[in-house]
Parts: sequence; structure tokens; C-alpha cells
Amino acid sequence: MGFYSEDIIKEVQERADIVEIISAYTSLQKRGNNYMGLCPFHTEKTPSFNVDVEKRLFYCFGCGTGGNIFTFIMKKENLSFPEAIRYLADKYHIRLPSTMDKELSQEFRERRKLLQINDLVAKYYNYCLFHTREGRNAISYIKRRGLTQETVEKFFLGYASPSWDGLIKFTRSKGIEPKELEKIGLIVPRKNSKGYYDRFRNRLIFPIKDITKNIIGFGGRALDASMPKYLNSPETPLFSKGDNLYGLSVIKKDSSKDVIVVEGYMDCITLHQHGFNQTVATLGTALTKKQAKLLKKYTDTVILSYDADEAGQAAAMRGMEVLAQEGLRVKILNLPEGKDPDEVIQDKGRKYFQTLINDSIDLITFKLNSIKKTIDIKTSDGKLKFLKQAIKVLAEIDNQPEMDLHVIRLAKELGISAESIKKEIKSKILPNNGYEYKKSQIRDNNKQFNEILQVTGIYKAERKILKLVLENEEAWGIFKEQLEPQYFTNKNTRKIADVLFKMFKKVESIDIPDIYNYLDEEGSKELSTILMETTEIKDEELIDALIKKVKYGYLKDSIT
Ligand SMILES: [Zn+2]
Repeated sequence: MGFYSEDIIKEVQERADIVEIISAYTSLQKRGNNYMGLCPFHTEKTPSFNVDVEKRLFYCFGCGTGGNIFTFIMKKENLSFPEAIRYLADKYHIRLPSTMDKELSQEFRERRKLLQINDLVAKYYNYCLFHTREGRNAISYIKRRGLTQETVEKFFLGYASPSWDGLIKFTRSKGIEPKELEKIGLIVPRKNSKGYYDRFRNRLIFPIKDITKNIIGFGGRALDASMPKYLNSPETPLFSKGDNLYGLSVIKKDSSKDVIVVEGYMDCITLHQHGFNQTVATLGTALTKKQAKLLKKYTDTVILSYDADEAGQAAAMRGMEVLAQEGLRVKILNLPEGKDPDEVIQDKGRKYFQTLINDSIDLITFKLNSIKKTIDIKTSDGKLKFLKQAIKVLAEIDNQPEMDLHVIRLAKELGISAESIKKEIKSKILPNNGYEYKKSQIRDNNKQFNEILQVTGIYKAERKILKLVLENEEAWGIFKEQLEPQYFTNKNTRKIADVLFKMFKKVESIDIPDIYNYLDEEGSKELSTILMETTEIKDEELIDALIKKVKYGYLKDSIT
């Protein structure tokens, strides 16, 4: 392995909280001593991803991916082993010897450097807000908008001065090259002469963080008549506005809590300040599939609270479809004509906004209302026309109670029996609906898991003895005396045995998460399935039988 000392690896492994780290990628629920969630490595609708807090391991019963915290970060962030160590060390402020940095890939070092620059720049903007004369301008704007000190701190707001080279000068004093700033869109090359100028000038600054709390870009609101009123970082190696949502890093992962999606930074911040802590903002784009996927990690239900103008409503309609396609329940909040959420809450207060949330309507009702606007349902001809279109909308619903609710409401409204509406809908629904899919998904997951359990013969014995040794210190002695790594006939069990023997030689105790650090992909997978197997080995004397079987396998292998 070589790059970092084992002490350092151990320290990172112990300080990094596996639940916290994994929670940035999928929502975990506590089940007994463990945590369960939807697997971040394959698409599934029922959770089969398991995090064992005590062992500091994760495992997916669906796709078989498993390992320790480094394995997880390597896979999710596409990093090498030393890079994963560096990545986690940065997160938990663990000092690593910088001489080792040459082992990191160019790309990783580059990204890390750019993130550090963003971090420094955010601090600079924040400093300018509170400690410069021009900053007062921004402070009085913040006060006018009713933001508290606490809110300013929570979102780490800042201020970019009107100067054309304030940031350039500051970063130069810190030894940062303009070329680097240009890469992350903080400065812009001059058109007619050499040199650069600051992108953000005389603006209130909103640092934008990703789900792992890295600052990846900035938004800036003009404090004078400059256009555009809101300016974002351009697309950079760190920032892509369609891939992120403002505020994601401060909301909680709780599928039972609705997440409110607004259009603007100020809407988002003001709602947080008034206690609506599950609010995020799109970054001035229509909702993308990627953003919907991100939201799905945090919640089951999204409430869209877009401006009540025509553009806002059209955006909401599109957004609802995108969110629904990712399996999210969607509701839409009706704001008073021409108002944005920030204005509404400033004018009418928290309670009023809460009633708007309570009155928000679901996607189906929203669609039915839109159809109703185009048809006169007072005539019987209009009724039938409306019913025909309404049934198409209702046929999209994939859960029965929700369907029933809408059918009853529609039946009442049109004066038609609920039965006949249901019959019509049934004829529209495809036989293979979502429910069937879920069942087959569970079956698949179980099948894979059963395959793991049904391994027989020598290979099974090899796995069993490894499990025995991994879980019982008393078994080490006999294992060491009686076996050698080459006795293992399966290449993956042999890899694990090999690591174990090396560890026995060096240390007194074996730390299971540590073993992963010495295994390749296949070996890790093997180890995960061995650890997750629920077959218990009760008989103490079984170890002799297992050892015999493993040895027999070795002999048989070397004869044939
Ligand atoms: Zn999986």
C-alpha cells in the first residue's frame, strides 16, 4: 500500500463517521444497531443497503457492493486509495504529511486545490461584508431584507466590493495565480488588454455548497442597478448549476419531511429564517433530472413554491413532471398573484405561509385544475370531455389510496358513480404497473442473497473458516497453526487469507475494516458477503472439520 502510514490510515478511519459520510449520498434510517437505505450503487425501490456502525462497514444485499469507508469514497468519488484518505482527512481536518501528496493524481490535486481556493475566497467575501467600509452597503441591504445575524452566518454570506481587482489583489497576496481563479470563474480575462477583472463586484455573495459541504461556486446579487440582478459562477470543473441545489448542505435527510423548492437565494434564506428549514433553491434553471435525483435522497415529497407569474407557473409545471418521474410526490404551493415567497413571508408572516403549505395541491389536482380551465364542465358535453382527459391523468397514479381519493372527489364533482370512473381507469392502466415491479425487485434481491448462502463444498468451507476466524479471536491460534494462505483454492478467499496471515504476523489484533485496505475489488466483495452471511457457526468442534475440508480441497486441487 505504502503511501500513508498505517497509523494515519487508522486515524482517518476512526475519525471519519461512516454514517455521516454515507448519508451525504443516500438517506439512512436506523434499524436496530444498523442503518438501512436505498443503495447508492444501484437503482432500487426497496432498501437493501446496510451500514454496520460497530464494524464500520457497509454492504448492499441487492448488488453485493460492500466495504469500509475508504472503499465507499473511492467508488462514489472515483478516487484512488490515497486520494480517498486525503479526501476524508481534509473533511475531518486531520493533518497528513504533504510529502505524500505526489502520490495523488493530477486531477485530484487540481480539484482539491480549487476547492481550497473557493474556501478561502468565501472567507474573504465574508470578511469584506463585516470589516470594510463598502461592506456597510451590503449590511444595510441585509437589514432591509430582514435577515438576522444568525441567518447570515448559517449561509456564510459575503460581500464583493465594487473594485475591479479586489479579489485579484487579495488572492495574489496569498500566492494564488490568476489562472487558477479563472478556472473557477471568479475572474474574467480583459477583452482589449492583458490581465483580468473580478467577476463579482458590488454584490451580496452566496457561497454554493455541494452535498458534501464543499464550496463549489458562488451566486451574487447586485446591490446597484447592474444587470443581471443575480449572477452565478459559470460552468467550471467544480460547478454545474443543473447538478446542484442551493441549500442542500443545510437541510436534513428525512423522507418524512417535505422539502420546499423555491427559485431564488433570498426566498430560500428567508424561509429558513422563518423556520422552514427544509428549503432549497434551484440555481436559476428549470429543474433537471439530476436535481430531482438529489432531492430524492432527502425526501419523498417536494413542494414547489415558484413565483406566481406566468413564467414561474410554467416552470413549476415542468418541474413537477421531472420530479414525479424520479418517484417523488409533488405538491404545488399557490402564492398570491405576482408575489415571490420572500415577499409573502415578509408581508404576511410565518403562520400565513404555513397555511399556504397546508393548502398546497398535488400534481394530479394541479393537472385536473389546468384541464378544467379549458372546458366548461357545467354542460353534459363538457363533463364527458373533461372526464375523458381526467381519466388519462388519474391512470398515471401508481398507489391505490391516492387513486381512490381522486376518484371519489371527481365522482362527486361530476355527479357520476365512482365505480364507473374506476372501471374506465382500469382499462387505461398497463398490466405491468409499479406494484408488480417492486415485488419482482424484492424477489431479485432475495435471489441474489440466497445464491450467496447456497455456496457449497470446499469453497463454502473456506468462507466459513474465514468467517469463524474474523469473528472469534480464539480461533486465530488454530487457524495460524493449521493453515496457510495457499491452501485456499478460491482466488478471492485466498486473497483474504493472505491478508489475515500478514496481519497475524505484524499485529496482535485484527481490525476488520482495515482488511479492505489491502484487498482489490473482487476480494472486497468476497469479504463483504462473508461478513454479511447470517449462517451461524455454533459448533466449536466444527473448526477441525472445516480445516480438514480446506486442506482436502488444496490436495485435490494439486493432484488434478
Ligand atoms: Zn446495491
